[in-house]
Amino acid sequence: MMSSETTILNYQALLNEKKLCAAECPSCNTLMFPPRLFCANCFRRGTRWKELSGRGKIRSFTIIHIASATHAADAPFVIVILGLAEGISITARLVGVDPLKPEDIKIGASVVADFEEIPGTSPDQSVTRLIFRPA
Ligand SMILES: [Zn+2]
Repeated sequence: MMSSETTILNYQALLNEKKLCAAECPSCNTLMFPPRLFCANCFRRGTRWKELSGRGKIRSFTIIHIASATHAADAPFVIVILGLAEGISITARLVGVDPLKPEDIKIGASVVADFEEIPGTSPDQSVTRLIFRPA
């Protein structure tokens, strides 16, 4: 799997294996998230997977009180922009905090990646969603 193309479908397959990965350029080592087939820096085709530590710090966050229909049942919930230890940014859901107490969520706080199973209509249709928790 780690040698497969850096597509969103393969990214989701890696998430299902509880691996958080970005695309890395073999020429200039630029990391890209979401993954891309072409390097955003030197435009070389043929990026490769690099597994990430999942450790990062909160750069910004917002509380979603009114969500789209597919996420309405989860509201309110917290969306964070994180700076990962590898230097790239990820936007994801933050769990393990009270969305009704945003004053308890601190810019710069350490967080760690986790993986949440979202059940489908049958076991082989379940998918894994990337989430973050306080470290
Ligand atoms: Zn490059």
